[in-house]
Amino acid sequence: MSVTIFERILSGEIPCKKVWEDDHTLAFHDIAPQAPVHVLVIPKRKIVNVAQSDDADVEILGHVLLTARKVAQLLGIDVSGYRLVMNNGNDGGQTVDYLHCHVLGGRPLRWPPG
Ligand code: AMP
Repeated sequence: MSVTIFERILSGEIPCKKVWEDDHTLAFHDIAPQAPVHVLVIPKRKIVNVAQSDDADVEILGHVLLTARKVAQLLGIDVSGYRLVMNNGNDGGQTVDYLHCHVLGGRPLRWPPG
């Protein structure tokens, strides 16, 4: 399997605008923001996507969501509200084969998504 852009960010090979980092996760601004706040949360241990996760990933998946909550607090959208998106596979629009959670906010978001 080829090395994804997010693994290259994690290794420091490619820079990112970091929002938060802890033992389990890294959060950084999306390079092509779709909202005033658009941050990606990734686990430090590779999971391709939710479809390819299993019971052993329960803790890391929890860490990703809790970091998303932390990011929303840090960037001041926890009260106004925000959307968490995890694109999964081709029809889900996943372009990077490394699990990531989009944290989107800072404006009202329409539903349904495109
Ligand atoms: P997805 O389409 O769900 O796989 O989302 C991948 C996201 O990664 C897109 O929103 C891209 O804009 C974002 N992205 C790709 N390369 C970078 C990068 N070097 N730094 C930050 N975000 C990136």
